[in-house]
Amino acid sequence: MDYPQIAMYIDGEWVGAEGRDSQPVLNPATGEQIAVLPHAGQADLERALESARRGFLLWRATPAQERAVVLRRAADWLRARVDDVARIATTEQGKPLAETRIELMAAADCLEWYGEEGRRAYGRVLPRPPGSRTLVVKEPIGPVAAFAPWNFPLGNPARKLGAAIGAGCSVILKPPEEAPASAMMVARALIESGLPVGVMNIVYGVPDTISRYLLRSPVIRKLSFTGSTAVGKHLMNLASERGIRTTMELGGHAPVLVFDDADIEQALSLTVASKYRNAGQVCVSPTRFYIQEGVYERFVAEFSRRASALQVGNGLHEGTRMGPMAHPRRLGAMESLIADARAAGAKLETGGEQIDRAGYFWQPTVLSDVPIHARVMSEEPFGPVAVMSPFKTFDEAIEQANRLPFGLAAYAFSTSAKQVMMVGDALEAGMIGINTTMIGAVDAPFGGVKESGHGSENAIEGLEACLVTKQISQA
Ligand code: NAD
Repeated sequence: MDYPQIAMYIDGEWVGAEGRDSQPVLNPATGEQIAVLPHAGQADLERALESARRGFLLWRATPAQERAVVLRRAADWLRARVDDVARIATTEQGKPLAETRIELMAAADCLEWYGEEGRRAYGRVLPRPPGSRTLVVKEPIGPVAAFAPWNFPLGNPARKLGAAIGAGCSVILKPPEEAPASAMMVARALIESGLPVGVMNIVYGVPDTISRYLLRSPVIRKLSFTGSTAVGKHLMNLASERGIRTTMELGGHAPVLVFDDADIEQALSLTVASKYRNAGQVCVSPTRFYIQEGVYERFVAEFSRRASALQVGNGLHEGTRMGPMAHPRRLGAMESLIADARAAGAKLETGGEQIDRAGYFWQPTVLSDVPIHARVMSEEPFGPVAVMSPFKTFDEAIEQANRLPFGLAAYAFSTSAKQVMMVGDALEAGMIGINTTMIGAVDAPFGGVKESGHGSENAIEGLEACLVTKQISQA
């Protein structure tokens, strides 16, 4: 499979760029143009809305067992094409092929799981006097407007499509403009597996234009967004004008607490891999490292050594451990955050610069002794930057970890059972990894607290977020 021509999917038809505004799609490893992306105009959005309205009526009446069959076939479609689809995703997003393959398998599992879980959207019957009853039933909420970002171009669309479709909703998805073909592949998997026309529509364009148009339509009953906290707040305002439900997966700034009694080798190998996965462009990426004094110097030195040894390159090439940033905007963000931290007195342990070659490559970077007022201590870097600070006591570490308005992921490393229990209770985050960085699984709720958003994806919570509860009392 070659990199495809980009098309929207509106009311059962693939719609290309002819006669529409468009923008180039770039390969982040080379900077070269690889495709042209069509922008949806008002007529396209109107058609997608009408299609979603009709698609919902059809799909809500389709038994959950039949919906599950479509989602399972779509999962198998993707698994059968793992190498081809992974090449397409890596070409447009940059991450190493090995990472893309894992993402694809997780995306397939997600589709299959939502189909299965949709079969278990059970209600209940409440005890009432003979001859009367109260039923509690779960129904799909209605057409969903979903916005997926570019960092997991297969995984994000699969989560949003899987939840809505598994619950019996229709969905209009706006995938990322920077990595649009991956979502097309997930869409193809569903279409070729028998998804009826109207259940899924896919549009691209200027994000603000599309979200304003869709969220103001009375057709849309729910917003699902993954992206930055700033954009999330803006979209919540739009959604509140019509009072619709929202699932918001927003920014993070994950703290990592490494205690003196931690298995340091385990902490190093897991956190180095996790920090530089997807060039740090991960909402749950470990970012603020708080290291207890007794192991601080050793941890910083060894982490930096391993970071600087990572092979950075084109994700399609054998041996690449870290690819480019997904788009040039991130390079400017790295430069400004690192310059600010150094001006504030932080020590640059390794990296800190753009790599001098075509494409958007940034060196794996470690900053130590970073003052609390440096911007990188509060702003999500969303890039390959780890910041390290020492701490003395448990309470001090928790205070620092919980200092920010974010609460998405948090990590801790310790071999003390008591400390492990206390840290799990004390950290303010929606997802906590203790002696592990593996916090994402299809049956585990994925979402944040505080300004990192609300509502979960995956798990029974992800399905529930696309359902409404209704009670029917009869005497
Ligand atoms: P951005 O804030 O401009 O965009 C983030 C995402 O939101 C993109 O996918 C974009 O298409 C979408 N978006 C932006 N404005 C929108 C609007 N008005 N309506 C609908 N969608 C809109 O930033 P960016 O430069 O693309 O990414 C960098 C920042 O985004 C990071 O700092 C990070 O906080 C955040 N981000 C978070 C995640 C995540 O998984 N939570 C993923 C990608 C980006």
